[in-house]
Amino acid sequence: MKIVITGANRGIGLELVRQYLARGDSVHAGVRTPEQAPELTALVEPSGGRLRINPCDVALETSVRAFAASVTEPVDLLINNAGMRNRPDGLEELDLDGAARTFQVNALGPLRVTHALLPMLRRSRGAKIANMSSGLGSIDDNTSGGAYGYRMSKAALNMASRSLAQDLRDEGIIAVVLSPGWVRTDMGGEDAPTPVSESVAGLLGLIDRLTLQDSGSFFGFRGERIAW
Ligand code: NDP
Repeated sequence: MKIVITGANRGIGLELVRQYLARGDSVHAGVRTPEQAPELTALVEPSGGRLRINPCDVALETSVRAFAASVTEPVDLLINNAGMRNRPDGLEELDLDGAARTFQVNALGPLRVTHALLPMLRRSRGAKIANMSSGLGSIDDNTSGGAYGYRMSKAALNMASRSLAQDLRDEGIIAVVLSPGWVRTDMGGEDAPTPVSESVAGLLGLIDRLTLQDSGSFFGFRGERIAW
């Protein structure tokens, strides 16, 4: 498979690259600053030409366009993983500029990248688009409040993903929303219960099993469906 992954220099994105390369797939990684991605760069040589890295800031139209132009082969799977969490993000310390930046990255970023890569997704048979959301993006699951910018950005991403699923269904392209669980990364923090390797292994299995019938759904990393 030919896979495009954004935010691939650390955390869940880096582990996605590792696990896909380990099983023989090819990865085109998008990162904001490739020259500051030593762990990802170290994977290039052992990959035997199966890993390419190009700059991609998902919040910037020009950067995404340049990245898309560097993707010259059909894309079987696009994982819109890049994301950020603005803090503080609570009602008493509301930071609307921070929330707007988060929206640019988490909600508009995946749509921007998907739109730019559509020609290459269309050249694959049954391509898949996996958008990395969060349980915090679930309205149904919001019993604790707070995290305004982050929650709203992921809820918006969920809606965009559902529209993508509807718009691309007739072309056989699958679009889903994924929640990786609470994962031990820079974003998830040290108290997170799920090791990144476990979350990513679950996501890989889930993505492998996706069919057109699943398109437009919201899944947890163990394969369970999550309420919107
Ligand atoms: P990290 O903070 O560890 O990594 C975030 C990644 O996104 C980095 O590679 C970062 O690049 C990249 N990124 C941020 N902004 C941009 C941008 N504008 N353009 C391109 N890349 C960008 O987070 P995780 O690995 O934990 O999270 C990955 C995804 O999973 C995110 O979408 C997150 O919201 C989601 N998620 C994570 C959870 C967790 O518990 N960890 C829980 C639920 C969802 P750089 O190094 O340049 O900043």
